Amino acid sequence: MTKHIFITGGVVSSLGKGITAASLAMLLKQRGYRVAIQKLDPYINVDPGTMSPYQHGEVYVTDDGAETDLDLGHYERFADLTCSKNSNYTTGKIYSTVIARERRGDYLGGTVQVIPHITNEIKRAIKSLDSDEIDIAITEIGGTAGDIESLPFLEAIRQFKHEAGDGNAIFIHLTLVPYIKAAGELKTKPSQQSVGILRGIGIIPDILVCRSEVAMQDEHFNKLALFCNVTRDLVIEEIDVENSIYEVPLELAKQEFDLKVLKKLHLESRELDLTAWKKMIEKAINPTQGEVKIAVIGKYISLKDAYKSIYEALEHAGIANDLSVSIKMVESENLEKDPSCAILNQIDGILVPGGFGDRGIPGKINAIKYARENDIPFLGICLGMQCAVIEFARNILKHQDADSTEFNEKTKYPVIDLMLEQKNISNMGGTMRLGAYACQLKPESKAAAAYGTKDISERHRHRYEFNSAFADELEAAGLEIAGISPKNKLVEIVENPALKWFVACQFHPEFKSRPMQAHPLFRDFVNAAKVNSREVKS
Ligand code: GLN
Repeated sequence: MTKHIFITGGVVSSLGKGITAASLAMLLKQRGYRVAIQKLDPYINVDPGTMSPYQHGEVYVTDDGAETDLDLGHYERFADLTCSKNSNYTTGKIYSTVIARERRGDYLGGTVQVIPHITNEIKRAIKSLDSDEIDIAITEIGGTAGDIESLPFLEAIRQFKHEAGDGNAIFIHLTLVPYIKAAGELKTKPSQQSVGILRGIGIIPDILVCRSEVAMQDEHFNKLALFCNVTRDLVIEEIDVENSIYEVPLELAKQEFDLKVLKKLHLESRELDLTAWKKMIEKAINPTQGEVKIAVIGKYISLKDAYKSIYEALEHAGIANDLSVSIKMVESENLEKDPSCAILNQIDGILVPGGFGDRGIPGKINAIKYARENDIPFLGICLGMQCAVIEFARNILKHQDADSTEFNEKTKYPVIDLMLEQKNISNMGGTMRLGAYACQLKPESKAAAAYGTKDISERHRHRYEFNSAFADELEAAGLEIAGISPKNKLVEIVENPALKWFVACQFHPEFKSRPMQAHPLFRDFVNAAKVNSREVKS
C-alpha cells in the first residue's frame, strides 16, 4: 500500500517548497524506499505550457511529454526520479476532466459541485501515484495557505488523510520564520497564523518545517510547538544554505527529518548513506581545476527561474569537471545593439538556450556568429540550434534572407520550418512535439563522443524543425548533421566539425542532467570551454 505525504506552504510563496519536497524524496529514496512525487498547482491553465517564462519560470518537460511546473525539475534532479503526466495537476486540468465528464452525461440528473466532484477528482489525481511499486507518494500543494484558489486542494487532502487513516498519510507545513532586522528578532507569529488558517479548514500539520535566515533558538522551537500543536522535535529548521541548494537534504537529515516522517508513517527507519552526495557537494563547493566563464544568451534573462534547468545542468557539468562555472547571463537584445559582442570578450563558452517568438533573435544570431568566427565552444539548445542554422545559412551560404518561418513566414530560405504534423494544428496547448524521442548519432561526431553511444533518447518541446530541403547545401558548406530521429528523419543535432566544439541540438538536454551525473553534452561543452580558456591564456 502506498503511503502519502502532503506538503503545504504558509506565509509567503517562494519558500522553496519544491526543494524541500525534493530533498525529502531524495532522503527517503536513499533509505531504500520507492518514492513518487507530484505537484498540485492551483492556477487555471491546464498546464504551464501556454505561459510565458516570465509568468511561471521554465516549463519542465517529462519523458512522457507533459509540460509541467519547474519544481518537477528539482524532484528529478534531487531524487533521480522520472516524473510523468501524473506528477503535475492544475485546477484547469482537474476541472476540464470533470467538465468533460459532465458533458458526456456521467452525472446525468446531478448537480456538479466543488465538493464532492472536484475534490474527488483531486483525490483521484493523488491516487494516480499509487502502485505496488511505490512505497511513499509525496504531494506538494502549490500556493500558500489562505489562497482562495487552493481551497479545493486543501479540502481534498483533508478528506484524503481522514479516509487513509492513521499512519497512512501525513501533513508537512513549510512556513516562514522571518528575521526582523530592526528588532533583531525572529518572529513566529506568521507561522502561528498560517497553521491557524489550516486548522480552520481541518488540517493539522504533523510536522512543521521552518524557513529562516538565521538559526532559531529554543524559545522559538518551544513557541512554535506549543501554538502549532506539534511536539518540539517535530519543528524542523531549514535555514538558507550558503553554497549549494544540494546541501538542503544534508541539513534536513541532520535533524532526522526523514526519520521523523517515517515514524509518523509507521515505517521502519532503514540505513541512510549520504557519502556520495556529500562528495558531490564537496566538489561543487571546492573545485580544484579553477573557473570557467559561460555566457547564456537568453531572452528571459531577468527571471532566473526561466532557465532553471540550464543553470543547474551547467553546475552539474562544473562538478563533473571539478570546475567552478561562472555564468554570465546576457540579454540577447543587448547584443543587437552591439553586433561586435564586446561583452563576450572574456567568455570561455557560449550557450544559446530555447525560446519562442522573434524578440531577441538578432542578438542570439550575433552571439552565434561571434562563437563561430572566434572558435569559442558553443552549445545551442532548441531555438539555439535553430538560430545556429540560420546564422550559418546567412553568413556562410550568403542567404541574407534565411530565417525560421516562426519569425518570417515569407522568407525565400526557410531553413527552419514548421513541422509537417504542426501545419494543421490550431490549439496552442499541449500540441508541440513533446517528450522523449529517439535519436541516432553520427559515429564520429562530438555528440557521439560525449554520449559514448550512438543511440540516445532526449526530451523535446518545439513546433519548428531543421528544413531538410536545405540539408545538402548546408552540409556541403560544412554544417554537419550529427543526429537524426530514426523514425521520421528529423534533424536533431548539427555540429561544425571545423571548430573546436560547436554542437547544437533540437532537444533539451538540460532536463536530464543530474548533480551526480552531468549531462554528457553539458559536461563536454564545459570541458571544451576550459580547454579553450587555457589555450587562449597560454
Ligand atoms: N520556438 C521554437 C519552436 O517552437 C523553439 C522552441 C524551443 O526553444 N523550445 O520550434
